Amino acid sequence: MRRKLAAGNWKMNGTSAALSELEALARNFPSSDIDILICPPATLLHRAAGIVRETSVSVGGQDCQAAVSGAHTGDISADMLVDAGASAVIVGHSERREDHGEQNETVRAKASAAMGAGIKAIVCVGESLEQRETSKTLDVIADQIAGSVPDQSTGDNLVVAYEPIWAIGTGKVPSLSDIQEVHDFIRTLLDQRFGKETAQSVPLLYGGSVKPDNASDIFGVPNVDGALVGGASLKASDFSVIVKAL
Ligand code: PGA
Repeated sequence: MRRKLAAGNWKMNGTSAALSELEALARNFPSSDIDILICPPATLLHRAAGIVRETSVSVGGQDCQAAVSGAHTGDISADMLVDAGASAVIVGHSERREDHGEQNETVRAKASAAMGAGIKAIVCVGESLEQRETSKTLDVIADQIAGSVPDQSTGDNLVVAYEPIWAIGTGKVPSLSDIQEVHDFIRTLLDQRFGKETAQSVPLLYGGSVKPDNASDIFGVPNVDGALVGGASLKASDFSVIVKAL
């Protein structure tokens, strides 16, 4: 059966002092039945990996370059993330899609590079407010899943995160039935493309304003296997509540 995953995305937040929050989180979860992941800024990744060693917390990257090495100033390859101690990487976050113009094809190449390097790709998909209001949500999700998820995906190397753009950092959350509709739909898309066994083993995360006070309700939705958490992952006390709710 698929594993549950509580993933935290620190985004562009945190210098050395923030590692005390990771230390506190690791102390809270020396062992756990579920997977716990923190994706700090790349500058902290190596030290973060040292902090969580021999605990149930693991660390990941927030992005990777599709190329293996070479003339790509400022970019980080999946192998470099592995070398720094990462076991996963987020790809196709809406902030990357918007701020860096990343299209599905780029996201798919990045996810493929991560899988090739032996780490999980957490592929993010999600609609804008305008797309939701014009009933295009499922079309957008289908397009992003078809375009961003690589052919070599399995239950071991792929995680999909549904993150409605309008819910990220806004305090707004879709209704539980809207979350279920999209998660059921993603499961069906994976089933059609990869078959039932793989589709059933891929964890599906919800992301967008997950907080200590709404996590339990969201985790009660069928086909929600965890969360990708931004703001509430920065404090160990908040994120620990979310992990326990899962
Ligand atoms: P948020 O971010 O929890 O701060 O809304 C979620 C995300 O972007 O993954």
